[in-house]
Amino acid sequence: MAETKLNAQKLADKLLVNKKNGWEGLTDQEKKKIMKFSDGYIDYINNGKIEREIIKESEEIAKANGFKPLSSYKKLKAGDKVYYINRGKNIILAVIGKDKLEEGINVVGAHTDSPRLDLKPNPLYEDTDFAYLKTQYYGGIKKYQWVTIPLAIHGVVALKNGKTVDVKIGEEGDDVTFVITDLLPHMGRHQMEKKASEVIEGENLTLLIGSMPLTDEKVKEKVKLNTMAILNEKYGITEEDFLSAELEIVPAFNAKSLGFDKSMVAGYGQDDKVCSYCSLMAICETTAPKKTAVCLLVDKEEIGSVGNTGMESLVFETFLGELIHLCGEDNTPNILHRLYQHSAMLSADVDGAFDPLYASVADKKNASFFGYGVGMNKYTGGRGKGGANDANAEFIAKIRKLFDDNKVRFQIAELGKVDEGGGGTIAYILANKGMDVIDCGTPVLSMHSPYETTSKFDVYHSYLAYKAFMNKYI
Ligand code: MN
Ligand code: MN
Repeated sequence: MAETKLNAQKLADKLLVNKKNGWEGLTDQEKKKIMKFSDGYIDYINNGKIEREIIKESEEIAKANGFKPLSSYKKLKAGDKVYYINRGKNIILAVIGKDKLEEGINVVGAHTDSPRLDLKPNPLYEDTDFAYLKTQYYGGIKKYQWVTIPLAIHGVVALKNGKTVDVKIGEEGDDVTFVITDLLPHMGRHQMEKKASEVIEGENLTLLIGSMPLTDEKVKEKVKLNTMAILNEKYGITEEDFLSAELEIVPAFNAKSLGFDKSMVAGYGQDDKVCSYCSLMAICETTAPKKTAVCLLVDKEEIGSVGNTGMESLVFETFLGELIHLCGEDNTPNILHRLYQHSAMLSADVDGAFDPLYASVADKKNASFFGYGVGMNKYTGGRGKGGANDANAEFIAKIRKLFDDNKVRFQIAELGKVDEGGGGTIAYILANKGMDVIDCGTPVLSMHSPYETTSKFDVYHSYLAYKAFMNKYI
């Protein structure tokens, strides 16, 4: 009898999937490594809450790791490290490989924009002795999550004289803060009966910025004027300059270790700065790979990858054209198409993690879990896989082997139950050009909220996944 039991166990070990929480069995040394990596990640997202700041920070990190601007090279050879920045919102980094470009490249692509509130072009007004800034939300948000939390203003004001003023105000410490008000429960009976999507109206996502009037008998809107005077003194701007500004309202609180065990990270904008950081760290540790490795940090993913800083633009192709030229492969016929056809990509975007408090929307057999490694989606999209990039089985098999060989913990999941979930990333855009692409990123709780949560174990294994792919995928 005992023998049969033993055989059955052996059989189960051989034939069945046996998932285990990744923290289990880790040595103190290994845990320390994960914690140290997360410290760097927490700094990265605290220093860069919007795409422009993340690109600046990423450039600093790249430069410190030997990357040079593409324009500084006359010729490229294996091992060279280059980067290109597009309009301050989008960076492409590459480490030139030993193989020719036409034989394909390995791309890890993440995005740097996150859901937020943008100021309208004419944002400033006064009502009942309050000064306000009007906003338009960016990306998929639950509007009710953005009221009564500390908010900060980040971005730029571009002036007619050609200069650009950087704005960053309202962060933690001694700085002031801003807030969007909500109705008190005592007077909220009708509001509480509304649908969650209507509890806070889009036009009410309006930032409170002042209440002190100037002392003057004749002037109207004294609170607005007083606020504008302060802004003028601090930034040298006038009300009209808001017309050419990009000012983003983001949560003022900082990212931190979460939990008594410090096993998680809570912070704003982890979609998709977690994958941005992990892919940036991975390419910084890529040396003389067989195939050219590329790290792509793009903008505008949250609103459909449109525009000249998004993945749909031709900027990446222009960059590849430059690489082709500098590597002396101009004369290969049809080179760009061949390159795409032979290339592979990890679309590095976050995955929705299983949340036991909302278990009913997930298929537990096909969900990604905290502590089980980087999450891959063979396909996203809702309903009948509509609009999904459906990764090829042969490609996934190669990735499985790569990750197993390099001790990368991974899980393959779906975004929610059939007919419940859905979503898209930049995966399909490069798959359309002929590349093999799969979604591969860190599972996140409370995605698109002002304070998202990740597991440090999964963050670390996302980095390991990208590093293995950039250095070793053939
Ligand atoms: Mn994303
Ligand atoms: Mn997103």
